[in-house]
Amino acid sequence: MKRITIIGTGYVGLVSGAGLSDFGHQVRCVDIDKEKIDLLNDGIIPIYEPGLKTLITRNNNSKRLIFSVEIEESIKWAQVILIAVGTPQSKNGNADISAVIAVAKQIGKNINNYKVICTKSTVPIGTGKMIQKKIDQNNLDKIKYDYCSNPEFLREGAAVRDFLHPDRIVLGATSDKAFEYLKDIYRPLYINETPFVYTTVETAEMIKYAANSFLAVKISYINEIANLCDETGADVHVVANALGTDGRISPKFFHPGPGFGGSCFPKDTKALVEFAKNHNIDLAIVTAAIKTNIYQRKRMVNKLIALLDNDLKGKIIAVLGLAFKQETDDVRESPAIQIITSILEKGGSIKAYDPIANDSMKTIFPELDYKSNWHEAVEGCDAAIIMTEWNEFRSLDLEKLKELMSQPVILDTRNILNVSELKRLEFKFDNVGHKVA
Ligand code: NAD
Repeated sequence: MKRITIIGTGYVGLVSGAGLSDFGHQVRCVDIDKEKIDLLNDGIIPIYEPGLKTLITRNNNSKRLIFSVEIEESIKWAQVILIAVGTPQSKNGNADISAVIAVAKQIGKNINNYKVICTKSTVPIGTGKMIQKKIDQNNLDKIKYDYCSNPEFLREGAAVRDFLHPDRIVLGATSDKAFEYLKDIYRPLYINETPFVYTTVETAEMIKYAANSFLAVKISYINEIANLCDETGADVHVVANALGTDGRISPKFFHPGPGFGGSCFPKDTKALVEFAKNHNIDLAIVTAAIKTNIYQRKRMVNKLIALLDNDLKGKIIAVLGLAFKQETDDVRESPAIQIITSILEKGGSIKAYDPIANDSMKTIFPELDYKSNWHEAVEGCDAAIIMTEWNEFRSLDLEKLKELMSQPVILDTRNILNVSELKRLEFKFDNVGHKVA
């Protein structure tokens, strides 16, 4: 059992805290956001993640997991410190690591005995060295510590499952002792024969960016193929499935749609490209994936405009799904943001509905007409657009939908509706490379 302090109680910090306390460790999740910590101490989970509440409640009740704003005291208390603060995109496309560096300074000032200090946040290659330098500058008593990079690969919407059953654990450390400490905190996974990658700090940092960028490339690739299917009458689902049966390709992350979004892929691809530029490397493939992604979002807007006879002025459009993917309330970089912006710019109005993310989207578009179910959202609308592949949209009652709308027009950016049914019910519709029944 280890005493672990996790600094930054967002999607990664909170899920990691819940998971590690469930592994039997004493965990403190700390944050500068007092409101967030107060909510957690009142038993309210500030984010939506399937299974998270149960895990937090169980470990909070057994006192293995606590929430606090007392960061300095929690640094002193810990044997292992995990840094999980945000690294958003800065204006020039680079990762903004200022929060990570601020935390490093705080750790340096408060380190009181040997600790393993580990970064979970996604940080550019070389940041580990900067973190250690910052700690050293503030660690006036030269207390010994070891450093480790342990990038996180969880997916929002499946974060608890991913944390408890990861494909692999990547550890880049400065000493064998650090490896031992980290192996110990992930012991249940180690026993279950989860692959562990032991490497250097820089390689671990690189693995995270390389993984996210590869997945982004895969999504942009299938979107381009889908667009070609649109123009040729081929069916991208059959194409993707056939490609996916090839073991060299794999069927995962091969779903065409409105372009990738979320808090990771957009910023991480841009950060890697910018980072590479500073090293005189042109990451042409990742750059192309970003460009395709921008185009894909515009293409969805154009499809909607075409469905409404090239005029959105005065049209009421139901936007179904606001989060960047199903099973999350996270709207950061959600493709729905661009669709909403474009509709409003072109004179349309919006009724918006997401099973979980209405409140998150209100922080960006407070003025929209938010509805609490899809029936209300589509009522009297000139068109509906599916932006998120929530299960409840997969099973939409299309007859009811047609009855409620002022005209049966739908854009399915996730290819989840039954094309034969849409045709039978005489919907005017479009999707992403999947129009054949
Ligand atoms: P988040 O924005 O949800 O949470 C970050 C938290 O850090 C916030 O609660 C914020 O208040 C806190 N914080 C900021 N500065 C702080 C400071 N100085 N001291 C203490 N707390 C501070 O972010 P997230 O989505 O959990 O991502 C965290 C990191 O993990 C990022 O680098 C991200 O790229 C990476 N990551 C995210 C995901 C994901 O799916 N969200 C997956 C893998 C990796």
